[in-house]
Amino acid sequence: MNEPHVIDCEEALRRLVEYLDAELHGESQRQMEQHLERCRSCFSRIEFEKRLKASTAELRHEPVPPELERRIRSLVDTFKC
Ligand SMILES: [Zn+2]
Repeated sequence: MNEPHVIDCEEALRRLVEYLDAELHGESQRQMEQHLERCRSCFSRIEFEKRLKASTAELRHEPVPPELERRIRSLVDTFKC
């Protein structure tokens, strides 16, 4: 795998935090998105981390995208007794 524009899972996971914090730009961000498009396992991982991050962000009163917030709320409702 010598394609310069493709990163592997190890690299993707290393960049995961930066990606979630929107600290990746340009080429790095594109590589990450390319990897996520073809790698189901990293994609699920990122989705999980996103949700986790969104719920902690809510506690810190950081803005959460409305769509994401609605999804979390419905998730919470699902698990509420
Ligand atoms: Zn991967």
